[in-house]
Amino acid sequence: MSQFFNSFYRDLDPYTPGEQPQDKKYIKLNTNESPFPPAPGVLDIVNRKEAADLRLYSDPELKPLKAALAETYGVTPQEIFVGNGSDECLNFAFMAFGGDGMAYPDISYGFYKVFAALHHISSDIKPLNADFTIDPSAYFSIHKSLVIANPNAPTGLCLSLEQIRRIVEQNPDHVVIIDEAYIDFAEPGSSAVPLTGEYDNLLVIQTFSKSRSLAGARVGFAIGNKELIRDLETIKYSTNPYNVNRISMAAAVEAVKDTAYFSECCQEIIRTRKYTTDALEALGFTVLKSQTNFLFARSCDITGKALYQSLKERGILVRHFDDPAITEYNRISIGTREEMETLIRTIQEILSA
Ligand code: PMP
Repeated sequence: MSQFFNSFYRDLDPYTPGEQPQDKKYIKLNTNESPFPPAPGVLDIVNRKEAADLRLYSDPELKPLKAALAETYGVTPQEIFVGNGSDECLNFAFMAFGGDGMAYPDISYGFYKVFAALHHISSDIKPLNADFTIDPSAYFSIHKSLVIANPNAPTGLCLSLEQIRRIVEQNPDHVVIIDEAYIDFAEPGSSAVPLTGEYDNLLVIQTFSKSRSLAGARVGFAIGNKELIRDLETIKYSTNPYNVNRISMAAAVEAVKDTAYFSECCQEIIRTRKYTTDALEALGFTVLKSQTNFLFARSCDITGKALYQSLKERGILVRHFDDPAITEYNRISIGTREEMETLIRTIQEILSA
């Protein structure tokens, strides 16, 4: 830290993203990216003309993307905010709605506590149940905003829509943020987007990074009541009006339009998730019931850290967290069927070595 660093930020412990190694080629199962390329239309649109147009600023209102999302999700463009990744949507939501503090689960997306610290928002951290599920009643009448990843990460477990509804109804004076980064891999009917028309204190956040194969484009969005969205726009226009670049917006529009490719990719991930779950269980692993594009699994034969290290030595990256509550687990993204077959073979080798 330099002597010039603003003392307001002195105690910040920044988020550690999953490894993005550039040295050698790994089977990358550590950051929940899609193993599939973006929709074919995306590759066509990101062409020389779009690159030449980079001399111009992007559309700060992101109109074509909001229009496409509005049609897809059955809401109006005024009920949509678009951010530079859902991380930016979350950051702005913490700024906009965290005035009375923010509640979230102790085992969840690691960025929540960083956003809270960044903005000096007090955190009310709620423990998960022993089986890693979220206890909805812990979030009733708490008189502060809250954020829940649903499905949760890294557990992969999902609350029902009725449980979400109860949480929203029990906090009419604050905003309930549901982070649906992985919702497209959950059972149909799990998304809280349809509830945003019923409750003016519900904000649902989704991303193009997982199910739409655009992690590198950095596009996420929030859906909620018009006034909540206007608050997020106020923060955006006080931070970075051109928050989504031209190429990413064009890519995102194409990705939303290709509904067939989108559902084909999601279905394939779900099939491969089932294959991988069964294969790990056959090897004696405990695997939580995932509603996402990753598995959270532990072996009774090898520690979480040793498995992570052994896989890395053999060219496969998974995500291990040092938190003692989950140190026996690894989070394993679902790759292609072939990648997961390699993973299973490699784990067999490690266990029999
Ligand atoms: N929420 C959750 C639960 C996540 O796991 C992630 C991915 N790391 C994000 C939000 C952020 O995704 P992105 O910024 O790529 O949209």
